[in-house]
Amino acid sequence: MAQLSPVLKQATPVVVDRGEGVYLYDTTGKRNLDFTAGIGVTSTGHCHPRVVAAAQAQIGKLIHGQYTTVMHKPMLELTEKLGEVLPPGLDSLFFSNSGSEGVEAALRLARQATGRPNVIVFQGGFHGRTVAAATMTTSGTRFSAGFSPLMGGVHVAPFPNAYRYGWDVGTATKFALRELDYLFATVTAPHETAAFFIEPVLGEGGYVPANTEFFAGLCERADRHGILLVIDEVQTGFGRTGKFWGHDHFDVRPDIVVIAKGLASGFPLSGIAASTELMSKAWPGSQGGTYGGNAVSCAAAAETLSVIKDEGLVENAASRGEQLLAGARLIADKTPRIGDVRGLGLLVGSEFTTSDGEPDNPTAQAAQKAAAERGLLLLTCGAHMNVVRMIPPLIVTAEQIDEALEIWADAVASVTK
Ligand code: PMP
Repeated sequence: MAQLSPVLKQATPVVVDRGEGVYLYDTTGKRNLDFTAGIGVTSTGHCHPRVVAAAQAQIGKLIHGQYTTVMHKPMLELTEKLGEVLPPGLDSLFFSNSGSEGVEAALRLARQATGRPNVIVFQGGFHGRTVAAATMTTSGTRFSAGFSPLMGGVHVAPFPNAYRYGWDVGTATKFALRELDYLFATVTAPHETAAFFIEPVLGEGGYVPANTEFFAGLCERADRHGILLVIDEVQTGFGRTGKFWGHDHFDVRPDIVVIAKGLASGFPLSGIAASTELMSKAWPGSQGGTYGGNAVSCAAAAETLSVIKDEGLVENAASRGEQLLAGARLIADKTPRIGDVRGLGLLVGSEFTTSDGEPDNPTAQAAQKAAAERGLLLLTCGAHMNVVRMIPPLIVTAEQIDEALEIWADAVASVTK
């Protein structure tokens, strides 16, 4: 008899039978409030009827139209629709299947376009699990330990992670920019640096938002040295943070954005967007893949974009996000074990700390487990897995946020007595 590999580490014991909106029903019939959204994917909720209908209509027509062999209508239609929401100037798209592949596509393009070998990533960033993307990931050694050597040419600069350093945001930002200049002077010369890869909010790294001053410093250096700015919007895109793009909070113009997760409501689809000018510097035929831009995924994504617009999901993420952040802070106020609560939109993290202010993994894990037992599914993140994160679907209502906060308060109280 075959069984699943123990390599999979599952955050909850739930075996799901079906999903509907913000709920996941397990095989015993128990209803769970899903504040994980499949790691920030099912933004329109589980099985949104319009997304289901679009996928069903497509599946009977064409499932697989291999895009280096033939072009198909859903990809052309999705490209046109994305044109309405992409950052200014980014009018050329390439599609792949997963966030990691999108990151690698951006890496290839950045190296080919600049002819430079190195890239700079920011401490605590998560960019994926394929070997190149894992090399660029610094949110936890668990993502790369045991299969080194990793890829060369990746250098790490600090992220303005004020809470971790115990500083205010201004001091952390100055430190991070100074260290970046030091990296240029000591490790990777600017003229050998192809790109910065950055998340607008560290996701797996602990839900830490960047800030406008830091991005201004990055952009200034990118412009001065001809370095490309690649923004990884895999977790923060498509309304998650209460603005359409995570970087919309920070007055910044990326050269390349990486997209995935919330794009297609759960169908595997990712990609990169850049200007036609930049994209045309890629070597023709150097990117592709058997499944990239699957026809059903593209049809589901096109409908997802319409649902986000028609149902005002970006606005909902902003207002429900404020409610969630405020509620989580009130709960943290009642216990010294939660040292910080932060986030943007519907991306909220509660960081557990010991009485000495050190990362408290056991209490965070216990709180996440206690919430799951009470029917609220959550995940943890951060280098020490001591941040409990909430990323519900963007369709979540005020009542559902209240319900989740009530369960969360009870779960926290049960493990911090
Ligand atoms: N970038 C970011 C910011 C992510 O959050 C993730 C996934 N958590 C990835 C890249 C990798 O995406 P995937 O798991 O689809 O390869």
